[in-house]
Parts: sequence; structure tokens; C-alpha cells
Amino acid sequence: MNINYIKAFEDNYIWTIEKEDKIIVVDPGDSVPVLNYLKNKKLVAILLTHKHMDHVGGVQELKNKCGAKVYGPVETKEYNDVTVKEDDEFEVLDEIFKVILTAGHTEGHISYLMEDNLFCGDALFLAGCGRVFTKDYKKSYEGLSKLKSLDDDTKVYPAHEYSLSNLEFAKSVISNEDLDREYERVKKLREENKITLPSTIGKEKKINPFLLARDLEDFIIFRNKKDNF
Ligand SMILES: [Zn+2]
Repeated sequence: MNINYIKAFEDNYIWTIEKEDKIIVVDPGDSVPVLNYLKNKKLVAILLTHKHMDHVGGVQELKNKCGAKVYGPVETKEYNDVTVKEDDEFEVLDEIFKVILTAGHTEGHISYLMEDNLFCGDALFLAGCGRVFTKDYKKSYEGLSKLKSLDDDTKVYPAHEYSLSNLEFAKSVISNEDLDREYERVKKLREENKITLPSTIGKEKKINPFLLARDLEDFIIFRNKKDNF
């Protein structure tokens, strides 16, 4: 099993999970780059984390052209073949996917854990987290707490390349050597227009202000500061 990515729009990553000639994609906001990527490979499933257009915009076209089976939360039900919720497990390409509710960015945002790989959409980014459009900071904090409790080795696959700006913000509210090192690593990669992901839960626990927040109050303070950064 291989994990790869397809770039879309300005800074979206559509993650792929591949086994031989079969592919699963996560959050295909645009069908065109996915169809270009597929060539002779077969798209068997689409996993959706939430309803925003830059995550679901390509789904209908891909369904029509490839007949892939769509898994998603209630809020994407117009596209779903299978609607999934917290703690559900399902199998695709002999891999088990576990659903974790990571709401807050939207009401029903979910993440998918496959072995030690976490596909977390807009819930968790490298050194950052998704904007809390619902204003339900408690839900958002609880979702991130669940992700924080995963094994340190868990690889984190967010849907956007926001790492550099997130690290710039992180440096304004926390300071440690891991953060400095990560900033240098990411800065260099972005200068070469290279991907900075995946991250890991262990790394995020050291550099992500939203995982370092001691309590909900801390989290809200960081989130408000980030919204105005
Ligand atoms: Zn979003």
C-alpha cells in the first residue's frame, strides 16, 4: 500500500491510497487533476472529511466517470454511498478505516485513521488547525484531543499546505528548539516549492500551539490570535 498526493487549486492536497492499480482518494475538490493522475488506474473509493467545496467539488464527476464508492459524514450525504460516523469502521482495499469525529471546522467534520495514517482534512494541519467556522471551540478542542491521544508515530495527512504560515504564527506564541528546527526545514522545502507533509502526531505535540494548549481557554486564545494573525 502506497500513499501519494495530487495537487489541486492553490494549496490543496488530494491524498491517494494505492494498492497495485487500485486507488482511494481523500477529498477530491477538483476532478481534473485526479482524472489526469488515474490514467490506467482504477478509482475504487472516495473518502470525504467535510462539506467544503474545495474538498467535495470533484466528487460527482469522479462518481459519474469512475463509479467509485463514496464514504462521508452526514453533511456530505448528497454524495455519499455510505454515510459514516464516529467510531465506525469499514474496509476498502483490505485496509480498515476508522472514523474519528473532529468537528468544529464544520459541524460534522470527520477524520480517517488507517493503520498509523491519519487523514484529517481541515481539522489538523502541520503546526495549526482549521478555522472554527461553527464557533464551537469545545468540539474543536475535543476533536484535537482525540488526535493528540493517537500514537506518536501516527502520520498526519492534512488537506492543505499551510505549514510555513502556521509555523510563523506558532513562533509568535510558543518557543522551543523543535519549533525552530521545523521552521528551518519547512522554509527550505517551500523555497523549492516542495511538500512539507506528512507530519506526525509526535511532532505536532511539540510544535503545534493548538495541541500544546493546556485547556479549552488556552485553545480559544490561540485560535482567536491566529484568526487575526
Ligand atoms: Zn474546510
